[in-house]
Amino acid sequence: MKNEIRLLNPFTQEFKIVTIDEVKAFVGVGWSSIIDSLIKDLFTLGWNGELHQVKEKFGGLRFYIGPGSHDIFERIDVAETYSYITCEVCGNLGVPRDSGWIKTLCDEHAIKYKPYELTLFITKTSELNIGPKKEITNFYIRK
Ligand SMILES: [Zn+2]
Repeated sequence: MKNEIRLLNPFTQEFKIVTIDEVKAFVGVGWSSIIDSLIKDLFTLGWNGELHQVKEKFGGLRFYIGPGSHDIFERIDVAETYSYITCEVCGNLGVPRDSGWIKTLCDEHAIKYKPYELTLFITKTSELNIGPKKEITNFYIRK
């Protein structure tokens, strides 16, 4: 099988072949290299190219695929986790900022955000204990 990315249309249930650039356009350019290396590694791990959705949610990358091995889903977890420390605008080191909606941004791109809101975010995600955010919370507590 060629390394084709086939994106699912949820309404028609049909697949359309898309380029990596089209996949990257679903999120900010700061996450470009995260998606580049993710897709490369997924094909190496035997991914069949079936992609369901790529988006940003609560400051993190979401990358939903069809079937895949444990290693494949673990690699996706790594990419999603990494997005929480990567500014979605420029790719520099960032942190999730809550300003009504949560975006992961570096200091420069978050000038309008208030620092205390980061604490609020950590409290919230610790309570929720959802997915990779837990690891990121720990990452920042260690700092
Ligand atoms: Zn930035």
